[in-house]
Amino acid sequence: MTPIMQQPFEFTYENLPEVLHRAVEALPVANPQFVITNEKLAEHIGISPVWLKSDAALQALSGNAPAIAMAYAGHQFGHFVPSLGDGRAKLIGEVIGPDHIRRDLHLKGSGRTFYSRGGDGRATLGAMLREYIVSEAMAAYGIPTTRALAVVATGEKVPRERLEQGAVLTRIARSHVRVGTFQYLAARGEDDALRALVDYEVARNFAGAPAGPERFIWFLKQVIARQAQLIAQWMCVGFIHGVMNTDNMSVCGETIDYGPCAFMDAFHPQKVFSSIDQNGRYAWDKQPVMALWNLTRLAEAMLTLFDVDRDKAIALAEAELQKFMPAFETAFETGMARKLGLQICDGEFIAITLQALADGNADFTNFFSTLTTGADVTSFFVNADICIEWLAAWRAHGVIDGALMRAANPIFTPRNHRIEQAIVAANAGDLQPLHRLLKVLAQPFEQHPDEAELALPPTAEEEVTQTFCGT
Ligand code: AMP
Ligand code: MG
Repeated sequence: MTPIMQQPFEFTYENLPEVLHRAVEALPVANPQFVITNEKLAEHIGISPVWLKSDAALQALSGNAPAIAMAYAGHQFGHFVPSLGDGRAKLIGEVIGPDHIRRDLHLKGSGRTFYSRGGDGRATLGAMLREYIVSEAMAAYGIPTTRALAVVATGEKVPRERLEQGAVLTRIARSHVRVGTFQYLAARGEDDALRALVDYEVARNFAGAPAGPERFIWFLKQVIARQAQLIAQWMCVGFIHGVMNTDNMSVCGETIDYGPCAFMDAFHPQKVFSSIDQNGRYAWDKQPVMALWNLTRLAEAMLTLFDVDRDKAIALAEAELQKFMPAFETAFETGMARKLGLQICDGEFIAITLQALADGNADFTNFFSTLTTGADVTSFFVNADICIEWLAAWRAHGVIDGALMRAANPIFTPRNHRIEQAIVAANAGDLQPLHRLLKVLAQPFEQHPDEAELALPPTAEEEVTQTFCGT
């Protein structure tokens, strides 16, 4: 049975203290047109796919409906900004799926809000398609993520480095509460609102919380555990988030805010993609350290909830934060062992593997997916000897489980050059490359013989070295 969308949308976030949100007026755009809609996702989350094709949906998903903008603060590249918030986004409501999960419908690029500061509140078609492609690939890998329900072209131009087509993305999330949301309240001494926010988030996304005041430290513990898993999952598919600021870290453990992110082609542990990340703060191998840094900011923001005695509160928080690195390492080692077809794998052999890949300048995705098929992988290395030596060491590790490897090693990732090609074509009115890419990324562990070239790394001319914030 086709699920019927709840009309009107629910709005539980509005019941939270006023300091957390501001009303946003309906804001029609010049000429809204759907660029892409995600019917499968609609059904999954309890929205009628028929409605999704309707004019009512086009109006709602282009921003022509009242909504709320969420307040948050954030550490951006290490610098605290006490007031950020949805400057070009708004929450248009919540839906409950057939799985009984409540999800936010959030627009991005939908115009100015109370939190816009100097910004125009708008987003480019290219950036919104990029988020659509990458978040849907993440979902297909089974990695927790926000998802993309639709992109609507606004028919308006957005001035960036040049004039770009404007677009609005509908983002679906189990919540948009970020580390920065807690920081926003802590910076204002809003302890009651902090408690309300924890209770809200726990009720939505964290089962099994204790009832008393110990629920606050319990919540921190859960957030830490989820982030440890998430970062390990990112790293096992060669993903670099790019902008792991505290306002871009969702406490429910979903990947959020796909800006200058990327999947690596040739492996290097210190690879960075964002042009604004000059110091490599969010490089591939720095992601666990930076996640812990962000979680430490979350713990600081919640300190007054843990215990009235500050020293005791700090001790409680530290005891939990100390669990992050071991949890990450276990998750990463388990994930890498699966990629290698091994039941268990020590950190030392993973380090050797990564070193060999880096020394050989080997393509991360294709190395593992080809290793899975049993075909020759030496050609991925600039020096075949590095690979031959590594292969001997790998085989010495015991029985290799092919099924384990097939489930852990995607054949297709949204490579930057393919995303760029899809965006360039879409800007010129040709959506075929976009749909082609999305089709293989929906089943990224399967062979798609007709689309094998989508698995190839970029040629020298195709290579996109940096992803700009051209958002
Ligand atoms: P982001 O880098 O996308 O995570 O955004 C960081 C902050 O800047 C958030 O508060 C955004 O809402 C805000 N922001 C980004 N782009 C714009 C824009 N074009 N107009 C207004 N606010 C923006
Ligand atoms: Mg953001």
